[in-house]
Amino acid sequence: MSPPSIAVLPGDGIGPEVTAAATRVLAALGDFETSEHPIGGASIDSHGTALTDQVLEACRASDAVLLGAVGGPKWDAAVAEDPSAPRPEQGLLGLRKGLGLYANLRPVKPSPALIGASPLRPERIEGTDMLVVRELTGGLYFGDSGREGTSAHDTCVYSVVEIERIARVAFDAARVRAASAERPAHVTSVDKANVLETSRLWRETLSRLGGESPDVELDHMLVDNAAMQLLAAPARFDVIVTENMFGDILSDEAAMLTGALGMLPSASLGAAGPGVFEPVHGSAPDIAGRGEANPLATFLSLAMLLEHGLGLSAEAQALEQAVDAALEQGLRTPDLAPVETLGAPTPELPAQVTVGTEEITLAVLAELRG
Ligand code: NAD
Repeated sequence: MSPPSIAVLPGDGIGPEVTAAATRVLAALGDFETSEHPIGGASIDSHGTALTDQVLEACRASDAVLLGAVGGPKWDAAVAEDPSAPRPEQGLLGLRKGLGLYANLRPVKPSPALIGASPLRPERIEGTDMLVVRELTGGLYFGDSGREGTSAHDTCVYSVVEIERIARVAFDAARVRAASAERPAHVTSVDKANVLETSRLWRETLSRLGGESPDVELDHMLVDNAAMQLLAAPARFDVIVTENMFGDILSDEAAMLTGALGMLPSASLGAAGPGVFEPVHGSAPDIAGRGEANPLATFLSLAMLLEHGLGLSAEAQALEQAVDAALEQGLRTPDLAPVETLGAPTPELPAQVTVGTEEITLAVLAELRG
């Protein structure tokens, strides 16, 4: 049998640095076939478009896609000069559309070694382990929009089919998480059913599916309350499922609970075919080329790829544990912890050492091999 094939799309800025590190980690985990392709600004420079048909085809033919990040000031400047110039983000949208990726999954689980990096007090963040499931291809971002004179409109449309399929992703994910943690599965559906008709359809559909799934505890929460509860009691959430725009905002809010953008992975999945696995952070042009980029979000995205994309749970777990172990050694890329703010080492906490992409990659590789 041929090894699983992974299309690697490094993109721009620190994208190539973090995906190169992840490719080394992948090689340490087993036999995989990787192929590299341009996307975003890199593709605009070489092909005049942010995603070529050939690259989309190569992604379609792969078992999973690992993406770095796209964008940067160079292409922003080109668009400022000529609004019709190609934009790097068009590559991401093209990929989502081309692969039919309708579900975006973002786990939020602070690494024990980084609990102090959260903007919330440790006792508040303790025990947080949630998954935000965001609908990715419907709602306001894809409805009809336009301008007439001095007014503008955006339209939010959801069909029962769209709601059912994302709800199923959330229910299934909750079951998998519950089985590994030996507790009941719990889904919180977030909407604005007191105001929006699409939200009322959302709630009705979720309730019906919830009735058919007695093994999953389902509750509903209005989005404004959810925004508060994420800060007040984040540990109460297990799986959150919500529509596109609410999910866009809440997943960033939830992500920041960990206080570490360089640690956050994500997965985008469709009904069939390869998913796209990528760090939540952008291309960080301010630090590109300096060897300072934190590759751990990309490693954790790779772990999601192994688990959700290839069904290789043991490898995924080994990688997550290696990342935790590297952090427990006290290794920190500059984004995670300026050494001077952490104070003296305690018996539980080893001295913190600021390292670059290379050192932390070597530490994770050593943990994997050890
Ligand atoms: P960003 O996430 O790139 O950077 C925000 C800050 O976090 C910067 O100070 C950066 O240095 C730091 N940072 C981010 N990731 C890091 C990492 N792995 N290690 C260390 N530090 C890290 O967001 P931004 O500055 O708003 O955007 C920069 C570019 O990235 C823009 O062109 C934007 O459009 C693009 N972007 C792309 C994606 C994507 O590809 N999915 C997502 C967000 C932003």
